[in-house]
Amino acid sequence: MRVWIDQDLCTGDGLCVDHCHDVFTLLEDGIAYVAEDGQPLNDPGGSGSLAEVPRRHVESVIRAAEVCPGECIFIEIDVPVDAALDVHVDHRIAARIEIRDDEAAA
Ligand code: SF4
Repeated sequence: MRVWIDQDLCTGDGLCVDHCHDVFTLLEDGIAYVAEDGQPLNDPGGSGSLAEVPRRHVESVIRAAEVCPGECIFIEIDVPVDAALDVHVDHRIAARIEIRDDEAAA
């Protein structure tokens, strides 16, 4: 599972960081970014802004997306890779989840 943030919509309230500070971080500009292996990915809109979510954080990342007031946390689920994930996804974020089942996503 991967996650990215549309910084143009972010309110900077930090709720995502409260839910999962390993995956979300607020930078000096007061806007949230995703992080991977402790490194913020601060390339808004670029392919480099898509962070892999460690399995142990999948649930909290989904909860963060559900409460995000900017509705700007987007999730990609790779069917081949994430088939074993057993998570409940709230209807509030259904529009922000992309299901990928192509080989390239694996
Ligand atoms: S919860 Fe959403 S709006 Fe709030 S800081 Fe995080 S990404 Fe931005």
